[in-house]
Amino acid sequence: MAYEAAERVHCLIIGSGPAGYTAAIYASRANLKPVLYQGIQPGGQLTITTEVENYPGYPTGIQGPDMMIDFEKQAIRMGADIRFGLATKVDFSKRPYRVEIDEEKWIEAESVIICTGASAKWLGLESEQRLNGFGVSACAVCDGFFFKGKEVAIVGAGDTACEEALYLSKLCSTVHMFVRRGEMRASKVMQDRVLKASNIVVYWNTEPLEVIGGQKVEAVRVHNKQKDKEEIIPISAFFVAIGHQPNSDIFKGWIDMDEQGYIKTISGTAKTNLEGVFAAGDVQDKNYRQAVTAAGSGCMAALDAERYLSALESI
Ligand code: NDP
Repeated sequence: MAYEAAERVHCLIIGSGPAGYTAAIYASRANLKPVLYQGIQPGGQLTITTEVENYPGYPTGIQGPDMMIDFEKQAIRMGADIRFGLATKVDFSKRPYRVEIDEEKWIEAESVIICTGASAKWLGLESEQRLNGFGVSACAVCDGFFFKGKEVAIVGAGDTACEEALYLSKLCSTVHMFVRRGEMRASKVMQDRVLKASNIVVYWNTEPLEVIGGQKVEAVRVHNKQKDKEEIIPISAFFVAIGHQPNSDIFKGWIDMDEQGYIKTISGTAKTNLEGVFAAGDVQDKNYRQAVTAAGSGCMAALDAERYLSALESI
């Protein structure tokens, strides 16, 4: 691989959600002089959420974007070097490990902490792709505002779908919610809130087949599996909330992952199969996916990196 290493660092952190910033806080305090690249969405998924009520230490809740600004400020105060930039390629064939930033410069790192998170999944419909940005969205909190007073639809049945349906129900006249099975995966409390909302209509055993519209979303064609019946529902926006996939593509072939692309870590640690490369947050966690668990694993990654680097120095 042809490259010129521009800079060498002890600890390179890739990603800026709760995991990345927490790793940066701990690594700074351990004097590892971490450099953190924020990626294309500084602050990660919490920047596209609203109220966070379940992060300890905020008794009255906090807005997701505000929480991430606080995380960043704290990391900077501890001395972390926070930079805007995207890791575009890696070369983990030998130490120091190499990471390409913005397809233009290489960084050499004694240790790497991967905190690249996860991204929204799509249904895979041609019409969904064609109308993306023209009424099709994977973020109700980002785009719901544009459909104030209108009829909208959402697909999904997890906590995210429920949370977003409730958010939309406060802005829009009616929220049509498509659930592909006869039950929801979401927690009981979220399901109850959805079912109690007077302007959320839940369609059980129903899957969208096509988002209809030329320049913008006008309707959705859905199929009820139980009744084997199709229906066209007029809407102005179509929100997709069917889960996430890990942002791990650039690491494929270098470190061990499961079949969905989640990075494998050694149980009870943040260590990957490659010495000196650690992973934290949603990119290695498909079970918990909470801000607080991501932050906890970011802390573990920094402590593991510190131990690894101390052992290297004492050799
Ligand atoms: P989940 O994986 O929990 O749920 C995804 C949902 O989308 C499932 O109901 C699934 O259906 C449905 N789905 C998947 N593919 C399709 C498809 N092709 N067509 C139709 N429906 C589909 O993802 P979430 O993003 O909701 O949640 C992720 C994690 O984050 C969870 O652990 C959740 O508890 C947590 N979370 C917590 C929150 C909170 O505590 N405030 C808020 C939001 C998320 P099926 O059930 O049939 O598989």
